[in-house]
Amino acid sequence: MRQSEYFIPTLKEEVTDAVIPSHQLMLRAGLVRQVGAGIFSFLPLGYKVLKNIIEILRDEMDNIGGQEFLLPALNPIEIWEQTGRVEAMGDVLFHIKNREGLVLAPTHEEIITFHARQHVKSYRDLPQIWYQIQTKFRNEPRPKSGVLRGRQFIMKDAYSLDSSLEGLDVSYNKHYQAYHDIFDRCNLNYFVVGASSGAMGGRQSQEFMVESNAGEDICALCDDCGYAANLEVASSNVKPVGRLDNNDEIEMFPTPNAKTINDLIEQFGLPEERCAKSVVYMVNNEPLLIFMRGNDELNESKLQAIVGTNNIRPAVSEELIKFTGADHGSIGPINLKTKIRIIADNLLKGANGLVSGANKDGFHYKNIDFERDCRIDEWYDLRTIQEGEQCPKCNSKLRVVKAIELGHIFKLGTKYSEALGATFLNSEGVEQPIIMGSYGIGVERILACYIEQNHDDKGIIWEYPITPFDVHLLGINLHNSDELKKGCEEIYEELLYAGFDVLFDDRDVSAGIKFNDADLIGLPLQIIVGKRNYDNGNVEIKNRRTGEREIVPIDGIEEYLLNYEPKSDE
Ligand code: ATP
Ligand code: MG
Repeated sequence: MRQSEYFIPTLKEEVTDAVIPSHQLMLRAGLVRQVGAGIFSFLPLGYKVLKNIIEILRDEMDNIGGQEFLLPALNPIEIWEQTGRVEAMGDVLFHIKNREGLVLAPTHEEIITFHARQHVKSYRDLPQIWYQIQTKFRNEPRPKSGVLRGRQFIMKDAYSLDSSLEGLDVSYNKHYQAYHDIFDRCNLNYFVVGASSGAMGGRQSQEFMVESNAGEDICALCDDCGYAANLEVASSNVKPVGRLDNNDEIEMFPTPNAKTINDLIEQFGLPEERCAKSVVYMVNNEPLLIFMRGNDELNESKLQAIVGTNNIRPAVSEELIKFTGADHGSIGPINLKTKIRIIADNLLKGANGLVSGANKDGFHYKNIDFERDCRIDEWYDLRTIQEGEQCPKCNSKLRVVKAIELGHIFKLGTKYSEALGATFLNSEGVEQPIIMGSYGIGVERILACYIEQNHDDKGIIWEYPITPFDVHLLGINLHNSDELKKGCEEIYEELLYAGFDVLFDDRDVSAGIKFNDADLIGLPLQIIVGKRNYDNGNVEIKNRRTGEREIVPIDGIEEYLLNYEPKSDE
């Protein structure tokens, strides 16, 4: 491709509102342009990379027996109502105003299940892996970081249909392996975390993550044993609060100016861990009283998984007073006004000598023994772990890092098949719901994450196989010499003939502009054709990543390119 005829609107200056490197560089190197909040056009160079990524996705999905579909983005709303997801998706689902009854699909479990219901009749029709690479629409409340969180984006989404849980395991493991192969082929550094299956009670779920400050997920990582988990589910080894030797009688005491755990600690010199923090949540509009240690933070994802619904929220003052008898800061396990369900964090199991609210404004109890003095209905791991706590597997220190989710594999079970009546007859002739899995990868996220991990202050650093072109041919000051111009054209034609995808900078611009643009665009190798080397029968080849330059004879260029080894590891 001749750069003089190709549309690559590179930008010399930094773009002020692009804060993360991938966003900045995708704009500056002419890969994308923003059209609206979370809405981007891919320009030819960017689309070329997307297509390379899509080819890898398609190849690996075909390798595990996936069959490619193209499902509609316009979906009848009824089918989304039947699975309860019009409500569950809330504002994220785009509704269409001038055509009632249609929505824009944010994902495709519903449509896949619809087709499964139509045509899967018997266990003999299973298993199936169905996938597509297609545009999704999500009304993200805060689109940001360029294409990492768009309102329209391309997803590779796959769905497995099985007749048994063992079959689901096989399909899930195939995707697990395919995802490794995909991200390895894209040269990404990533890790896999156990993730929350959410309130929907799925069986198992893992996310493929890239560590990055641009990420909106938070993960716990152990560099020693490799333990990795989304903070939504991460656990750690922390010593339980335990029992004190002296077990005094409970005693109410006035605490008029203590509204928080810190107030109690400061005003009464109490140890933080003996202050049982109480939190009241409304779960499907029923109150739930939760006890945590000191200033531990309640993990809402863990709570959602425990109560089996996303419909949770902290109770407001009115509700607190109605159910407990007191407002914020004075709630506790003793003398509750109404009988409500009480759960507590595992660290408080069996603890005594605790301080907690007296359900009377301005009063607390001390010497509370959770075994002796009150009813705790169930114990769970409810807390959000903190940086530096001990790994649950090997006791090393955990790191807490930000990460970008590249992909997600998820054992759905029968939620959608039951809701939509997608059943099959098993070998005994008994009707059963199809057992499903769902597997998504964000195509633009692969691209942006690659750039996050492969750039320097001059621009992007591409590698095979996702690089938009194999090589950048730079003709230097061609207008000064007809011979050089002709020679450069010949090199270009020969490389094309040999099957290389070449970007040929034949523009009539200064060498400086060409070098800067070449580094910004970032093809793995630059073949620099200048008068002095050319007159000696040579060109200079520059490695974009290392900056190393080599003089190569013109008739040795092809061989050099064929022998080029991209970075082995970094
Ligand atoms: P997130 O938590 O980042 O919103 P998600 O859990 O909603 O992601 P899934 O519904 O599992 O994502 O979608 C599968 C994949 O699609 C994600 O792993 C991610 O790579 C990609 N993806 C999801 N939302 C977006 C978006 N708004 N823009 C670009 N890619 C996205
Ligand atoms: Mg999302």
